[in-house]
Amino acid sequence: MAERVIPLIDQRLGALRAGVPATPIAATGLLSDTLGRPLRDLRISVTDRCNFRCSYCMPKEVFDKDYPYLPHSDLLTFEEITRVAKQFVAHGVRKIRLTGGEPLLRKNIEVLIEQLAALRTVEGEPLDITLTTNGSLLARKAASLKAAGLQRVTVSLDGLQDDVFRAMNDVDFPVADVLRGIEAAREAGLGPIKVNMVVKRGTNDNEILPMARHFKGTGIVLRFIEYMDVGATNGWRMDEVLPSADVVKLINAELPLRQLDASAPGETAERWGYADGGGEVGVISSVTQAFCGGCNRARLSTEGQLYLCLFASQGWDLRSLVRGGAGDEELASAIAHIWQGRGDRYSQLRSTMPPDTGGGARRVEMSYIGG
Ligand code: SF4
Repeated sequence: MAERVIPLIDQRLGALRAGVPATPIAATGLLSDTLGRPLRDLRISVTDRCNFRCSYCMPKEVFDKDYPYLPHSDLLTFEEITRVAKQFVAHGVRKIRLTGGEPLLRKNIEVLIEQLAALRTVEGEPLDITLTTNGSLLARKAASLKAAGLQRVTVSLDGLQDDVFRAMNDVDFPVADVLRGIEAAREAGLGPIKVNMVVKRGTNDNEILPMARHFKGTGIVLRFIEYMDVGATNGWRMDEVLPSADVVKLINAELPLRQLDASAPGETAERWGYADGGGEVGVISSVTQAFCGGCNRARLSTEGQLYLCLFASQGWDLRSLVRGGAGDEELASAIAHIWQGRGDRYSQLRSTMPPDTGGGARRVEMSYIGG
């Protein structure tokens, strides 16, 4: 078992200053980076805390009771988040995903959802507002989230057997409660519902077929995610990655599949439909089939740092602008300036890097900027 690495550098402390360009950059809804990728999708982390300790994201050995979580005063308030999100929307963002840590741990998150739901795209359309959760609080929250304006949810579930699930999330939380949360989301009208399963070879890959059988024909879209070298604490090894091509082969042998077209530009999942019409599954293959070419996602950390890639090692401090009296145009200009300079494509470059060193720069933790 690879030695777990305790992060020596805390990205939260080393943010880059987000400057306001001398020549303002107007928000036109059309903003592209150096690779021609438009800004379309904003992921907002609303907390760095979680009640699970998934080994691939927040290993217990590192994220223990002494871990220096962010004090509440450091977090962006709901009003600040909405103000920042409004500038991203003016630049063309159409989809906002709320993440964490576990976003449902953030008190009164419905208030934030109401504020975001009031925003409109540059075309005057409602935003696509979704949320990624571990499902532990969903049974209790589904109805109020829907009433606040949330449209859909993605639930992380890494197995159906309690012992396997426990081996992945490292807390004593029963699968049945997550399934109850998914049912409550369906009853509340939050959909289409997606379920994400991170596949770690040798730990939960024996759950691939049981999960596919369980969700087939339910209208819920199951996606299998390749185990990724996110952050610097999960002890990632390539031999624990089960390539998506093998996952598709495994399912197809029992439940025949046919490939489907992407449903939107920049979609991370490769879609497969059951040949008998029983719905679809997806695979997200950041390790073996990088999709950086269409990556239109920005990430906002819970205390207001802008990250341009899940595997980035530094973010830009937008909070200082927000709390420093910058106007909306200045904020929008600063965001545009940063995005226009973006060239990130870590997954595409991963295979050119020496094995498991991640190119030297210590990557930001996924639990801090959301998946
Ligand atoms: S590795 Fe970075 S640039 Fe590539 S798809 Fe993921 S987030 Fe986007």
